[in-house]
Amino acid sequence: MFKKIIKDPFNLLIFAVSLGLYIILVSTGGFEWFYHMSLDHGHLMFDAIADFVVVLSLAGPLFLYRWNRLLVAAHKETEIAEAEASHIALHDPLTGLHNRRSYQLQTQKITASGWANPDKFSLSLLLIDLDRFKPVNDLRGHAAGDALLCEFAERLRNICSKSCDIYRLGGDEFAILVRGSGHDEDSGPNLARRLLTEMRRAFIVDDWSVVISCSIGIAQWEDGMTGQVLLRHADQAMYLAKDNGRGSMAHYDNALGARLRDTAQLEADLREAVSQNHIRPYFQPVYDIADNTINGFEVLARWEHAERGFVPPDIFIGLAEDMGLIDEMSDRILDEACRALMSWPTNANLSFNISPCQFSNENLADRIGDILTRNGMSGDRLEIEITERAVIADMERARTIINQLAIKGVRISLDDFGTGTSSLATLTQLPISKIKIDRSFVTDVDTSKMNAKIVSGVLALAESLSLEVTAEGIEHETELEFLRARNCTLGQGYLLCRPCPADDIPKVLAEAAGREMQAKAS
Ligand code: C2E
Ligand code: MG
Ligand code: MG
Repeated sequence: MFKKIIKDPFNLLIFAVSLGLYIILVSTGGFEWFYHMSLDHGHLMFDAIADFVVVLSLAGPLFLYRWNRLLVAAHKETEIAEAEASHIALHDPLTGLHNRRSYQLQTQKITASGWANPDKFSLSLLLIDLDRFKPVNDLRGHAAGDALLCEFAERLRNICSKSCDIYRLGGDEFAILVRGSGHDEDSGPNLARRLLTEMRRAFIVDDWSVVISCSIGIAQWEDGMTGQVLLRHADQAMYLAKDNGRGSMAHYDNALGARLRDTAQLEADLREAVSQNHIRPYFQPVYDIADNTINGFEVLARWEHAERGFVPPDIFIGLAEDMGLIDEMSDRILDEACRALMSWPTNANLSFNISPCQFSNENLADRIGDILTRNGMSGDRLEIEITERAVIADMERARTIINQLAIKGVRISLDDFGTGTSSLATLTQLPISKIKIDRSFVTDVDTSKMNAKIVSGVLALAESLSLEVTAEGIEHETELEFLRARNCTLGQGYLLCRPCPADDIPKVLAEAAGREMQAKAS
């Protein structure tokens, strides 16, 4: 206490001034002068004034001491309140872990100080996302979800060393900043491996045991990198881990970054291409195998990219599905395809592929109906190709949509038959009129015993259920002969005709008509 008082420069100043004043008064005889003046002017009551000054000089320090104590207490309270407010601002109230704001501040500090010397230390970020958390919330309620998150946080605390900062960034997303010292056991990947094992152990929530897993993305901090960039890299690696199969981890590296930038560019180009009608329908004729006449055309989407050339449909269709563009793209292609069909001198039909994700859209049948009406095309000239994936998710909804389409005269065929579950339930419970045998079974059907058995079996099944059959991907005359010998009615493939743009179809039709005339004449 005494040390504190004498250390304060303000107290020392007061003490020095008082001492100086005292020395001046003593050396100049100020006290004697005051004494004589008070005797000479007794009526002015200088003695009372002097008494008051003495009392004040005793009471003043006591008063100041008390006042100081109050100020110190108030200051302490403010400090505690400030610390509490800062704790609340930087921590997650549920788990008590650091929060996203804390991550920002911490990484700002690191990047400002250039802390990590890549030769001696390493700094990596683990981004952790729970894999099956939503069902816990949905089935057991939010209280159970909260309890699970707390238990998860506790396991993180137990497994992480002191050189780790653990954050809950929001929802079921956690992050760990790992300061490695170059030793293997400290490294991010090692910690991630231990976490994956630990989190596979069942969690007990309200006497209920639940097994979840987590996916982890790992990114390495490099000199000059901001916390936001580090987080983005870990996030991208985490999504890769999810894609690779839940309960796994993935690392961010430059190749992944380049791939993601490429996909982002492709997405931007696709958005533009859809809005500008640059995704065009190509048409592959479907032939009547018995007499080589054209029965219909399958519409196949084509995108000719200015720099990349033709982008495979398997790639851009998946992308359009992920981006929520598939309905718009599909409608535009179907519209253009119907317009083209109506301009050709033919009664042939159109087959059009619909993605599984479109098959859950309740207004699908109405949108197709509108396109048919706009182009003056009757519904019975359109066949929608779906894969089993589209129906197994929700059989009832599929039935409703198929029935709505049937009312408009539109038929349904089951594409890529044999590659999915190919369950008899799909064939018997839904009004399907055709199956398309997948190319993988048609290839080498004349030489591969296995393929021959499968194709013969499918043809027999289709006959017994009165379904039409198209064989896809016929590339060789011998394959066509095999199918013809087994009474497969329809076929398509490069041997017969490759997919081509609308402008080429009149020529294809003319050639087919010429062949037909020749056949009749001979
Ligand atoms: P899919 O519906 O099974 O279409 C048949 C695929 O086989 C087409 O590939 C076609 O070009 C190819 N093909 C036909 N004959 C032969 C052959 O003899 N040999 C070989 N090797 N291939 C042959 P493509 O055009 O690349 O389309 C791939 C898939 O993309 C299609 O498979 C379909 O599932 C999807 N797709 C194409 N266009 C659309 C579309 O407009 N919408 C939707 N949702 N999917 C589409
Ligand atoms: Mg198809
Ligand atoms: Mg197919």
